[in-house]
Amino acid sequence: MFNIILFGPPGSGKGTQSERLIAKYGFKHIATGDLLRSEIAGKTELGLQAKSYMDQGQLVPDAVVIGMVDNVITDNPDAYGFLFDGFPRTKAQAEALDQLLLKHEEKINLMIALDVPEEELIIRMMNRAKTSGRTDDADPEVQKKRISVYKNETLAVASYYHQFGKVITINGQGSIDEIFAALSEEIDDHSA
Ligand code: ADP
Repeated sequence: MFNIILFGPPGSGKGTQSERLIAKYGFKHIATGDLLRSEIAGKTELGLQAKSYMDQGQLVPDAVVIGMVDNVITDNPDAYGFLFDGFPRTKAQAEALDQLLLKHEEKINLMIALDVPEEELIIRMMNRAKTSGRTDDADPEVQKKRISVYKNETLAVASYYHQFGKVITINGQGSIDEIFAALSEEIDDHSA
């Protein structure tokens, strides 16, 4: 398997690029935000627990997301590889992910970080709110909270993988096609 983490702040384009990478390479997508939103839509116990955290721009507890990810990994032993999107978001999640993968004799091959300035993130979230129906995109206070959670808790995930020499940063500004081309080039280089 070839397993990657697509990393970046909220609004950096992970979802958009993930869709294309999946179509091109056949990764199994593990997007914890999407998994949580489908739990909410299904009105499950887990969804009910997660919703209040998400609406406030806070992280859902590690144990909840790690359990969800474990299920998807276990259910997809024949995937080309996993593309993690929005996970891991804390150092504890990164350590747990490494353990989960190890259990399946797998590992993270590469983390690609999308670099986008903060002003641009806010503009993108505002735009996305118009069509996504995501309550966490529309409110400026919640946007700020999500960016501060990213800085205070999630950036540590990049440092964690950096120590193993697994992080590549690419410019997340430009056209969707340009960014997709840069991502594909890195994946091709590292999976060859
Ligand atoms: P974005 O990347 O645009 O912030 P996501 O859809 O990835 O959006 O996540 C939306 C919300 O879901 C987060 O603000 C958080 O509350 C919750 N969430 C998603 N992934 C995780 C995770 N790995 N750990 C904890 N909470 C998460």
